[in-house]
Amino acid sequence: MNNEHTIEIKMLTPLWTGGVDGKCDRLHETGIIGSMRWWYEAIVRALDGYTCDPTSKDHCELSGKEKTEEERRKKLCPACWLFGCGGWKRRFRLDVLASSTEPFSLSSLFYKNQRNQEEFNRWWLKQVFNKNLNDNLPIGDVKFSIQPSAGNEEIILGQVKALISAMAQLGALGAKAQYGFGQFERAERQSIQDVLCAINDFVKAGGFLTKENDAGWYSLENYWLYELSLPTSNPQVKRFEGAKLIGSTQKPLTYLPVSFDIRYKLPGRNNLGLRQAYRQSHTKEQTRKVFGTLTGEKQGSRVFVSHLFKQQKDEENYYLRVWGFTEDIVRAFLGEELKRIFGLETMPGIKFSGAELIRGIKQGGCA
Ligand SMILES: [Zn+2]
Repeated sequence: MNNEHTIEIKMLTPLWTGGVDGKCDRLHETGIIGSMRWWYEAIVRALDGYTCDPTSKDHCELSGKEKTEEERRKKLCPACWLFGCGGWKRRFRLDVLASSTEPFSLSSLFYKNQRNQEEFNRWWLKQVFNKNLNDNLPIGDVKFSIQPSAGNEEIILGQVKALISAMAQLGALGAKAQYGFGQFERAERQSIQDVLCAINDFVKAGGFLTKENDAGWYSLENYWLYELSLPTSNPQVKRFEGAKLIGSTQKPLTYLPVSFDIRYKLPGRNNLGLRQAYRQSHTKEQTRKVFGTLTGEKQGSRVFVSHLFKQQKDEENYYLRVWGFTEDIVRAFLGEELKRIFGLETMPGIKFSGAELIRGIKQGGCA
């Protein structure tokens, strides 16, 4: 029996997958699965379900002695049930096919700071991405083939489809979402309320392991999203002259600011990006807590900034999405900074607030 199901999506910014196999454009799905599990965990936690940290010692595991589905679920969190863990396989097979890829390159406006050091973004980009130069990254149409395991096919597919709809609206797909990659659009998507209801129903009725979530874990409870629509007349959205392609002697190019610029520093004197602006009134530790760090004990970023992108090629405006999992005070600070950076008249409105979405579900918003 062929029980394969297809989901078609469109990558609006490149998908970071950790490479493409040869020429057939079949993608390594590890980074994609990792991002799916990450979002599923954040949603389940906000719906009062428990999901373990799969990298900790205290993650779920089956011994193999469990005889029934009921016994297994008592030992598994919903994320481990769907995505697998020690002694339990992932409930679906995923194949991802990209119809087009583009080589990844780094470019940066070349100028020096006050201390005559090489411009910060350029230095930083080299540190983080040098090894990835000329990797091929998928952009445009991407096809997911999902094959659920036998038994519970409907449930598995329902959860995976809901999850992908959620990610299209709230976040991104694949790795390095904090640096602008993985924005995508799903044509046949469910509303965010329907998505959360589908996951809520499954988690509540599932008979899964119950434990306390760690307060520091990512949860949709403190999620927020700003979405800016920026005309090309905006002084920060224009193409800047004189960018150098890193690792190449090619002539300078014109350059549209990307996620890194908006996070760190934009072209022009003293035009601080979000992180640097935050750092001016906060300690190094506080800044690392919000924006992450690669030094010492690694910390993931709690703020994510897309590249500038268009939903349709012939569209006039660019979009920018900035989202986070932070306290309200941090969200408000970053909203004010976006207003400053892009010269907006008012602070951008919040497109989605996790707390509000969850309140709606808890107050009986599901049919
Ligand atoms: Zn688990």
